[in-house]
Amino acid sequence: MMRAFDYLQPTTVAEACELLKRHGARARLYAGGAYLTIVMKEGLLEPEVLIDIKKIPELRGIHFDAGEGLHIGALVTHREVETSEIVREKFPILCDIEKQVANIRVRNVGTVGGNLASGEPLTDLPQVFIALDARVKISGSSGERAVPVEELLVDSYQTSLAQDEILTRIVIPPLPPDSGIEYIRFSSSSVVDKPCVGVAVCLALDPAHKICESARIVMGCVGPTPVRASRAEQLLIGNPVQPAVIQEAAKSAAQECRPVSDLRGSEAYKRAVVHALVRRALSTAAERASVN
Ligand SMILES: Cc1cc2nc3c(=O)[nH]c(=O)nc-3n(C[C@H](O)[C@H](O)[C@H](O)COP(=O)(O)OP(=O)(O)OC[C@H]3O[C@@H](n4cnc5c(N)ncnc54)[C@H](O)[C@@H]3O)c2cc1C
Repeated sequence: MMRAFDYLQPTTVAEACELLKRHGARARLYAGGAYLTIVMKEGLLEPEVLIDIKKIPELRGIHFDAGEGLHIGALVTHREVETSEIVREKFPILCDIEKQVANIRVRNVGTVGGNLASGEPLTDLPQVFIALDARVKISGSSGERAVPVEELLVDSYQTSLAQDEILTRIVIPPLPPDSGIEYIRFSSSSVVDKPCVGVAVCLALDPAHKICESARIVMGCVGPTPVRASRAEQLLIGNPVQPAVIQEAAKSAAQECRPVSDLRGSEAYKRAVVHALVRRALSTAAERASVN
């Protein structure tokens, strides 16, 4: 059974930050509740104060700014991303990924901000946002800051958000020309909503010679936070993205990830999945970059 709590509904980000500061560790923000209601019902979290942020208009909306890129408000739900015309035009891959997230019930209530702020390791969006070099904007009682998504996620279920801070939006910069992106998620059972491994890749090629100019390979669910395959990225940069290089990069990525054995598969099994997914994702991203 859930413990009784006070329920507050601020209407501005400033008001919500003040409430967080006043109530300290006794308080929790509440967005869609997809994660929070489960852990509260199980008694794993027992906040005395719930600060529902759904009435804050500043946290809503999706828009594209030619300089900064795609802005997604923290309260935007998975379903809103999946069906957004702007997202479909600028980052169609995000709509396709969102279709695979959880189930329609979770997608209708769960927010993008809550997905990142919960720090859950078995998710899809963090590795995709990191591959896209996205940042999050954060407001606190002492002001605003922006950090790369990579720096937001510090450990399993732990973020770098301070007690009085709210994640307000996600900003994805425009892609360089001649870029290709791919995300592949693998789930070892059809009854499991969450991924077993998810690999996101973003490549940019030199248009004249098809040499790899930049590479971001991010592996999700194989570590407490998404893992960058930095050595694999270095193997690609400065080289044509050909099968032998892809093979070497996939091998390196499988060594760089940090999976643990669990019900979704053994450590060795997950490394083998990473190897296969990185190889496939790199081939597709390179193909997409070549035709752009
Ligand atoms: C059954 C199930 C299957 C799932 N499958 C997938 C999947 O396949 N892929 C995937 O990517 N994800 C998956 N998820 C995770 C899901 O995306 C998140 O649980 C959901 O998006 C959380 O958003 P919420 O708005 O419901 O957050 P809440 O439950 O309201 O909050 C989650 C946490 O984040 C904090 N928080 C929320 N918003 C903010 C904010 N703006 N600033 C700071 N802190 C904040 C809250 O205090 C709380 O600690 C799944 C979840 C469930 C329950």
